[in-house]
Amino acid sequence: MSYLIAPEALDDLIEHEPSYRVDQLRKWLYETPVLVADEMTNLPRPLRETIAPGLWPFTVEVEQRADGGATRKWLFRAPDGASIEAVLMGYPRRTTLCISSQAGCAMGCTFCATGQFGFERHLEAGEIVAQVAYALAALRADPIAGSPDRITNIVFMGMGEPLANMDRVEESLRRMIDVMGIGARSITVSTVGVVPGIHRLAQTPWQVNLAISLHAADDELRSQLVPLNRRYAIADLIAAARDYREVKGRRVSIEWTLIHGRNDTTDQARKLAAIARRMRAHINVINLNPTPLTADRPSGRRSVEQFMDTLVAAGANATLRDTRGQDIDAACGQLRVAHETRIPTPTPRVTTTEKGR
Ligand code: SAH
Ligand code: SF4
Repeated sequence: MSYLIAPEALDDLIEHEPSYRVDQLRKWLYETPVLVADEMTNLPRPLRETIAPGLWPFTVEVEQRADGGATRKWLFRAPDGASIEAVLMGYPRRTTLCISSQAGCAMGCTFCATGQFGFERHLEAGEIVAQVAYALAALRADPIAGSPDRITNIVFMGMGEPLANMDRVEESLRRMIDVMGIGARSITVSTVGVVPGIHRLAQTPWQVNLAISLHAADDELRSQLVPLNRRYAIADLIAAARDYREVKGRRVSIEWTLIHGRNDTTDQARKLAAIARRMRAHINVINLNPTPLTADRPSGRRSVEQFMDTLVAAGANATLRDTRGQDIDAACGQLRVAHETRIPTPTPRVTTTEKGR
């Protein structure tokens, strides 16, 4: 399995080959990935045939398209049956890839399809990186019209809690940044609030962005929506996020999924604005993608407007995100979250990202 071996240890995979061949293979895997080994044109045919069956550590079970081809979602299947999901979203000035860090998730957030489904297993570093390589290869083979033909942003917002799989996530970041040459600042790690993981991420050498999935502005409500809050309360989370910002010199963002009748009140909006001001964070609001596994409903249009207006009136920087790929499979609510990592707004404002195309 080519991607399950560290890029530096590829000579174990193709023993008895000269080192320049190993370098050529490494380039095909990490710099200019291709969907099939046969496209590795400078490698001799027998070597391509050796590589072909184990090129990807998963098979593609489903590929779906939405938004006129600007959103592509893959459901990959590992040989042991674990499911891995990734979504590519094209916009006029960015092409964002959303990747998974675990098969399933143990955190049990009530509104999240993955959380309700439960935990399967951690993904290996190579399985995380292979999602990026696969999307790169697919994008090279079939670019998204009107969007950058390379991946400009990577977000750990697919299945799983990245900071609960920190060893492997850290190694995947190393491979993306040091081997694939992806800029750390174009990568965002999203966490539901694993405080020790935030401290650990702060100690890595890379300036990756941090997103905090807050969803509630007081501990009582947050503990209902996000069980992990009973272990790491909001105050601890804010402190960790502030440390991260200070160490990295990067602004942290807050994610907020609006749930009808739960966290879409003006009271929550006011408290959220106060937290965001203290953290100097940008807020990304997204309306819930309903999932079959929970009774939660999206917030109504007027409540969404009122929530955003309250944030702005209270002096917060907030963006309402559209939900991408709503016409494809309902199985993974959070994978449709469309995000950007750049946080350019110095003054309070609300923007709405373009809706589909
Ligand atoms: N475990 C990490 C990263 C994966 S979830 C985390 O929770 O941050 C990525 C994002 O999708 C989170 O902000 C999460 O709250 C959001 N999300 C989960 N379920 C959703 C749903 N049904 N609708 C909209 N967003 C959802
Ligand atoms: Fe896990 Fe994130 Fe879903 Fe919570 S929102 S269950 S942490 S994937």
